[in-house]
Parts: sequence; C-alpha cells; structure tokens
Amino acid sequence: MRILLVEDDAALGDGLSRSLSDWGFDVTLAVTGTYAGSALCTQPYDMLILDLGLPDLDGRELLRQLRARKSAIPVLILTARDGLSDRIGGLELGADDYMTKPFELRELEARIRALLRRSLGGYGHDIGYGRLRLDTRNLQLSVDGLPMLLPPREYGVLEALLLNAGHVVSKDSIAQRLADRAEELADNAIEVYVHRLRKRLVPLGIGIRTVRGLGYLLEQSKDA
Ligand code: CA
Repeated sequence: MRILLVEDDAALGDGLSRSLSDWGFDVTLAVTGTYAGSALCTQPYDMLILDLGLPDLDGRELLRQLRARKSAIPVLILTARDGLSDRIGGLELGADDYMTKPFELRELEARIRALLRRSLGGYGHDIGYGRLRLDTRNLQLSVDGLPMLLPPREYGVLEALLLNAGHVVSKDSIAQRLADRAEELADNAIEVYVHRLRKRLVPLGIGIRTVRGLGYLLEQSKDA
C-alpha cells in the first residue's frame, strides 16, 4: 500500500515515515503542498495523510482540489489544530478521518488500517484475489472458502502482496514486515519464501512476478 505523507515538520515527518515503513507501507514524504499536489496527480497512492499547516498552502486547499478532481483516495488529516470548527471543516471538505497532534502511534496505525480496509470497498474485511481470500481482521487466508494454512513468514509475504494487489511490492517493505515477526532475515530469505509461495499458488492460477530492481507483483496466470 502506497501512502503519501504530507508533513512539513522535519522531525515528525521523518519519524512518521519510519513508522509507516515499519508497518509495511511504501511511504513518500512531501514537505510542501505543491509537491504533494503534483505527486497526487502523477502517482497512484492508496492513502493520503495530510498536515493542515503547510508552508506554501493550507492542507484544506489541497484536499478541496483533490475532491474537486473526484479523487476518492482516503484522507487522514493530522494537525495540531484541535478546534471543533477545524475538525468539521476538514471532514466537510472530504477528509475520512482526523487526528490531533500529539497522538499515539498505535492509534494512528489502527486508524490507517481501518481506513484502508474501508476504502477497499465491496469486500468488507476481506480481500479477494482469484480463488484466494484474505480476512484482514482475523488474518486468515482461504481458498474457495477453505482455510489455507501457511508458515508465518510465507503468510507475511503473501499478505503484503495481497494488500498491495495491483502494485509492485518492494523487497524492503516485505523485509520490514517480516522483521516484526522474527529475528534476522538471511540475505536471500525473501527469495526463498517467494519461491515456496509460487509453488503453492500454481494450482490456484496465481503467480508472483519478479519486477527486476523493484520487487514483486501478484498476478493471475494466463493459463489458469
Ligand atoms: Ca505543519
């Protein structure tokens, strides 16, 4: 999942970028509204985390422009402003959620995941890919409705690919996701897990494409 973080405070921006990466997201940091505006026009992001007080323009103006273009990207506003009118103003302009600084990182992560789940739409808490289904609330995989059990690290790799279906997932972001679960990863560990997963996914007509220098991408096999 690709997140654009718009935050002009250097320390906060760096810290949040690191946390977002640790949680397995591909994060881009924008320190001005102008940069964020052009990034949003040229790159597909799954979510926008937006500070309102920016040096060049008000975050609300960026949000207004975004919704005027009919972009449905989920937007979480982060701001030091805690006045009720700011909060309502942001929500009226089309923000999906709102957090006031300072906040707890754990709460931020929970809200981001909740917003992303909601924005995945029709599936509720499930992400479907071919015959595979991932229940993101209970972290359970199934194939044609029957549970699919995987070793934890293979599960972690497949979860990262499913949550980002349609996008290339970098090896780094997979490694960071796995690092939460286990001790050091060997250099070629991810290749090994991907290799094992490929074998398991063949009967389902699902492949994992290696995009050289970038990462991995889930795809439906042509001959499925
Ligand atoms: Ca600011």
